[in-house]
Amino acid sequence: MEIIETEQVTGNQSRSPIDLNMSKMTVVNLKSLDWHNYEIVPKKLKITNTGRNVVVCGNWQKTPHLSSGPLRSDYTFSQIHFHWGPTEMMGSEHLVDGASQPMELHAVHFKSDYLSQEAAMRETDGITMLVYFFKLQSVPNLALNGIVNSLSSIQPPDSSIRIPVEPISNILRPFEDDYFLYKGTVPVGKYETPVMWLFSREPIAISLEQVAQFRNLNDRNFNRILNNLRPLACVNPPVFYANPKGSNYASLLPVSPDSIP
Ligand SMILES: [Zn+2]
Repeated sequence: MEIIETEQVTGNQSRSPIDLNMSKMTVVNLKSLDWHNYEIVPKKLKITNTGRNVVVCGNWQKTPHLSSGPLRSDYTFSQIHFHWGPTEMMGSEHLVDGASQPMELHAVHFKSDYLSQEAAMRETDGITMLVYFFKLQSVPNLALNGIVNSLSSIQPPDSSIRIPVEPISNILRPFEDDYFLYKGTVPVGKYETPVMWLFSREPIAISLEQVAQFRNLNDRNFNRILNNLRPLACVNPPVFYANPKGSNYASLLPVSPDSIP
């Protein structure tokens, strides 16, 4: 805990993404992470092809937010976006035990006191990023259908449509304990802004056909977006393993049976 709080991000060097390896992490005991309103059905959900990425955002009567765990304040859910690569063998920004994963989901949260993601991006404690990796399965994951089925409608860059509303906990399984974290960065324009990265050990199931749909989206030159991954950072920030509970056979757990349709 002490180490997490005193670890400072200095300079403007990228500290993310990195390779995650449970055997090299420091175990820390933290309060459980608290998830609020993730099971609430939003009033509206919108998906956008930004020309580089796919972003899902929404409106809620009560917006989902995170607190406790390593967080000193409330962090409001802002958006979900996806990272993928030219093949499912090369589809994640972070590596796990040296291996690339088929895809990676980022759920951006901003410190509620700063009122917006844009304002929070300028602060050193403004952003917390939840990360879920994907794991291939032979059949489509029906929980992703709302997103995946809409991709053909947002093939042109800078296009967006509304998608059927559902709680985001249908896609992101909340975890209170047994997760990884480190202080890294994300690029904001020419600069790197500090980010607290929190990783689910349980991946989200996806089929090969579902991953392939993301590669049909077009960038602003009307080429297919085959890769929106950043290279590994040249530094190795300390990584922590909070409140271990699950199996320690590998860094990622199997997909739970009830998320398989
Ligand atoms: Zn991202």
